[in-house]
Amino acid sequence: MLLITCPVCGNVGDETDFHYGGQAHIRRPASANPGEVSDEAQRDYLYVRLNPKGLHFERWRCDRGCAKWFHMARDTVTMEIKACYGITELPPREIIAQIPPSNPWYGFFDQRQAEPASTAAEPKNAELESTGER
Ligand SMILES: [Zn+2]
Repeated sequence: MLLITCPVCGNVGDETDFHYGGQAHIRRPASANPGEVSDEAQRDYLYVRLNPKGLHFERWRCDRGCAKWFHMARDTVTMEIKACYGITELPPREIIAQIPPSNPWYGFFDQRQAEPASTAAEPKNAELESTGER
């Protein structure tokens, strides 16, 4: 059983009090016109997901508290929750530093950490950007 603390409202509960929402930090391909997005970019956005053994970044929803979405860094082997953080935030730097080179998340946040704070997290529709990182 996972014991989760919502970073938004502080609600503490097991995983049945929350809703798993899949992989975190997925960006929609950058274009105001969907017809300009390549089939490969659209496929990757919709279907291609990381499935690491070890540290993973996920989206969760606080069903029995504030109903807000948030991010979680969790080890898929030990089930240890490393951090819960806001939906517009990047993982804490100390968590990013723990990603081993064998993990597909390795290097994923390098570019985003270098971006200005206003665009480093999940972008708004007008500033969507495809990173092509996997
Ligand atoms: Zn909450």
